[in-house]
Amino acid sequence: MDLKLSISISSVKGGEKMFDKILYPTDFSRNAEKCLAFVQRLREAGTREVVLLHVLDRRSFDLLSALDSETTAHAAEENMVKSSLEKLNETAQELKNSGLAVKIRVEKGVPFSEILKIAEEEDVSAIIVGSHGTSNLTEVLLGSVSEKVIRKSKRTVLVVKR
Ligand code: ATP
Ligand code: MN
Repeated sequence: MDLKLSISISSVKGGEKMFDKILYPTDFSRNAEKCLAFVQRLREAGTREVVLLHVLDRRSFDLLSALDSETTAHAAEENMVKSSLEKLNETAQELKNSGLAVKIRVEKGVPFSEILKIAEEEDVSAIIVGSHGTSNLTEVLLGSVSEKVIRKSKRTVLVVKR
């Protein structure tokens, strides 16, 4: 481990656990994917395990079932879960190649609430998010999901800028 990094970490109480287990929620946007390189480097700061999470927005499902028959909506939902798992598995492989243990999760719900819930459930040391996601509005400081995660979580949040 880099000397400067190990000194600054050990000077913080409980420092060796600061980055032990990381929650990495992704919406598969370019902004969220920028976090990957940072997570890989976090191994040098003591990260052992990464929980990779994608949240399927409950509100888009409700819209789907309102527009389509129940069976069509159900099939579309299954497909979304399947393609999310495939995409998460690709990222998981890259993290495993860097020597990290990885757990993948796909949840349905409101993205920020699921991120907060899983952070507690998995008892992570920190959460890493992109400052922006798929919407990526030019004049906006933070996306609404990252803004709520930073504001509402008691845990450390690392924000990777676009
Ligand atoms: P908005 O959604 O408010 O229109 P945005 O899409 O540009 O703006 P956010 O959605 O806040 O920005 O995305 C910021 C970060 O939050 C992403 O880089 C990602 O890490 C995380 N994130 C956003 N949506 C999800 C999701 N559905 N599942 C998992 N992580 C997400
Ligand atoms: Mn978004």
